[in-house]
Amino acid sequence: MHPAMEELQAKKIETTIENLRRNNMEAVFAKTKEEALSLVRGYLAPGCTVGVGGSVTLDEIGAIQLLRNGNYHFLDRYAEGLTQEERKLIFRQSLCCDVYLMSTNAVTETGALYNVDGNSNRVAALLYGPDSVVVVAGINKIVSTVEDAVKRVKTTAAPANATRLSCSTPCARTGKCVSLMRTGDDEICSGCAAEERICANYVVCGRQRIPGHIKVILVGEALGF
Ligand code: SF4
Repeated sequence: MHPAMEELQAKKIETTIENLRRNNMEAVFAKTKEEALSLVRGYLAPGCTVGVGGSVTLDEIGAIQLLRNGNYHFLDRYAEGLTQEERKLIFRQSLCCDVYLMSTNAVTETGALYNVDGNSNRVAALLYGPDSVVVVAGINKIVSTVEDAVKRVKTTAAPANATRLSCSTPCARTGKCVSLMRTGDDEICSGCAAEERICANYVVCGRQRIPGHIKVILVGEALGF
């Protein structure tokens, strides 16, 4: 990367961290995914109960492997052979875990997290329940404002996730939310009527009442989508 771009990127990260902290979230920077994993490990006490939100990022940094092989009580939603009922139970148990790990659909330079969920187990745990929530996000998730975060989900996160999860939605077929093809339809919640729609609840995390309840690890690499 050109040094000028590196400088620009560093400024963005610095501003984002500063504003997340101003919003009562802990925020730290990890240059690489290896550093990010090491920071995640630091948030996990031996024997603690850990739940995770669906996330490509967590897999990419090696967090799922860490949880499976470490001295933790991992509520493993990805375990082979789980029935629907068993997975549902894990989602419910995850609402009372010690540490909940997840990524985010976007993080704004103004210090907010933005997440859109279909099943909504992830946003439920983000908002209330676990003692601690650790969010890992690559620099590709940084946007300027909440408005840009909304656009990011409709043009990147949702289409990519719908494709990953083999959901039959317009965005999986065209690469963007159907609402963007309708003139003047700029409602946050506008979208398709597909049965497998992955957007149901739209959550913005601003200033937190409990300082440090949410910890954000910003990683200097592109991770997830
Ligand atoms: S509302 Fe439908 S088309 Fe729009 S992003 Fe969500 S799943 Fe895709």
